[in-house]
Amino acid sequence: MKVVVIAGIPGSGSTTVLENALEILEYTHVNYGDVMLTIAQEMGLADDRDSIRKLSPDVQKEVQRKAAKNIRERSEETNIIVDTHCTIKTPHGFLPGLPKWVLEELQPDQFVLIEADGDEIILRRINDTSRIRDVEKLKDINLHQQMNRAVSMAYAALTGATVQIIMNHDNRLDESVEKIIRTLE
Ligand code: AMP
Ligand code: MG
Repeated sequence: MKVVVIAGIPGSGSTTVLENALEILEYTHVNYGDVMLTIAQEMGLADDRDSIRKLSPDVQKEVQRKAAKNIRERSEETNIIVDTHCTIKTPHGFLPGLPKWVLEELQPDQFVLIEADGDEIILRRINDTSRIRDVEKLKDINLHQQMNRAVSMAYAALTGATVQIIMNHDNRLDESVEKIIRTLE
């Protein structure tokens, strides 16, 4: 079945856009972070989703690999959209969200990158009290989005998947949702 990957840096609104689009689209929503959190909790490694990215890179990769296997099994029955990250900003640097072994498990057909302006992202992070968001400067947020564009094309080159970039500006959620629906139907 079809596998779509949707990604966006924290504060881009990728999960919000996706949840709205799923009112129309027939895909099963799989949150990679949820799967990783369940595995990390079972292994006694983390209690909340925002502490996973602080674990050592090797441990993150072990959990990431287990999550990929788990998700692959679900994609055999239905079309799925995997809500994840192209890169994870860790204290050791950018960790690839879809290294070769994850791509081999998931075999994605399409990548959708959700982006917003850096200043919009800064304000959204400040206003989101439900998460432990890292405080970052505008230039670091811009760099993170650039890294994600670059690495998503590398993921595409490895899989043949297409890459669609969708801007999700403040007060224009409907437009972003419409674009993702058009891309995926
Ligand atoms: P989220 O709720 O989307 O912010 O995801 C929670 C956490 O899950 C992220 O901060 C990462 O630590 C982890 N995560 C999600 N997707 C991946 C991935 N593809 N590879 C490694 N870690 C991931
Ligand atoms: Mg998310």
